[in-house]
Amino acid sequence: MAKHLISKTSYIKGLQCKKAVYLYKHYPKHKDALSSERLKRFSAGHEIGFMARKLFPGGIDISAQIPATYDEYLKSTQEQIKLGKEVIYEATFKYNEVLVMLDILVKTETGWKAIEVKSSIAISETYREDASLQYYVITGSGLELEDFSLMYLNKPWNEIEKEENAASIFITESQIERCKSDLTKVHSEIEDIRRTLAGPGIPSIKTGAQCNTPYPCDFIGFCTRQESEIAEGLFENL
Ligand code: SF4
Repeated sequence: MAKHLISKTSYIKGLQCKKAVYLYKHYPKHKDALSSERLKRFSAGHEIGFMARKLFPGGIDISAQIPATYDEYLKSTQEQIKLGKEVIYEATFKYNEVLVMLDILVKTETGWKAIEVKSSIAISETYREDASLQYYVITGSGLELEDFSLMYLNKPWNEIEKEENAASIFITESQIERCKSDLTKVHSEIEDIRRTLAGPGIPSIKTGAQCNTPYPCDFIGFCTRQESEIAEGLFENL
């Protein structure tokens, strides 16, 4: 079984707030409903991802495998690598109970290159942390990477014509040095998140600046209600 404890999403949540990752893993029912704005962003993200694939055509999409299970994704990824497939979309790797799905994996004459596509016009610190996590998992699982790049837009998505050439709208920036230098830090963050998730209860963390940095937290509704119930002496337990 491809049981995994931590995904990219839970790792980034764990960096933002230990209470957020605990709630995400143990009490997902407390998540706020997705706003229409976030749904639109997810949908744009998918379109941008497909646009980026045009720069690396002819790949196999691991996430389209049937049955659609992480076990199948992991198995299929290894099979495609062994078969010498040169372009793989959503290549899936697991290491140290962390599972990641990489947007584009490319085999060149000199080695494997990993590319993660972002829907924004700049690279944030969170994107770099995401890249470092993926590098940790992919190389830890046994695949040596010659490069790990982030690919992002050179102008906002709503200003891009659908017919535009993919080559003219993306910027690619290598993160390989940062990924290598972050290996120890990523390992220690994973252990920290693991300890949090194994803890006896929801971490006692008050709402604050972290609730909107780097992203608005999915649990703001729950935490705000919990705090007001505690203030009113109504909150006993979950
Ligand atoms: S709303 Fe704030 S305190 Fe609550 S889980 Fe999210 S980041 Fe943490």
